[in-house]
Amino acid sequence: RFITLEGSEGVGKSTNLDFVCERLRRRGLEVVATREPGGTPGAERIRELLLSADDDDPLDETAELLLMFAARAQHLARLIRPALARGAWVVSDRFTDATFAYQGSARGLDPNVIAQLEALSQRGLKPDLTLWLDMPVGRASARLSLRGGDADRFERQRGDFFEKVRDGYRQRAEGDPERIVRVDADRSLAAVQADIGAIIDSRLPA
Ligand code: C5P
Repeated sequence: RFITLEGSEGVGKSTNLDFVCERLRRRGLEVVATREPGGTPGAERIRELLLSADDDDPLDETAELLLMFAARAQHLARLIRPALARGAWVVSDRFTDATFAYQGSARGLDPNVIAQLEALSQRGLKPDLTLWLDMPVGRASARLSLRGGDADRFERQRGDFFEKVRDGYRQRAEGDPERIVRVDADRSLAAVQADIGAIIDSRLPA
């Protein structure tokens, strides 16, 4: 089985990814925790290319899109498909919904083109369950500053970039409500994790 966590920066994806993995391991399952962009040595090198672009040498948005899918193809071939084939559960911090939200909704690239690249690289493979951790953009940004994180990721993006990311996730969730479950992440960690545990147990029972 394949589970993904989605949401913008600052919503608690990594903490909750650890929680999901621990909960599944307690069932005695082999769990592979991974992330995108990245997840394998080759795909992590592509991640470095993506994250090292700056104002002096900004990344063209089409180049960004193609690198995302190049990393994903590598990640699928070298890590995700082999793990699923041997019966392991894969839990990924971000996957293709992030591409629709960031490169599609926020950067304005054509979602039909993204869907074609998805078909090419995934050949029908989709997550069994996607947890979309959602909270107002201002709250996520405040949480990032509090934990001393890279809050200037928010500053660096112009205007309503993260509102568009959030809208993109909302549209994805509306378009595929069976797979994508919204979790209100703007609550105590205990409340969020109680919800996540219940969703996993009901959707993907032991
Ligand atoms: O998930 P994480 O915060 O590690 O993502 C690293 C960066 O890559 C973030 O700044 C995120 O905004 C960006 N990203 C992106 N498009 C994606 C996935 C991530 O721009 N499809």
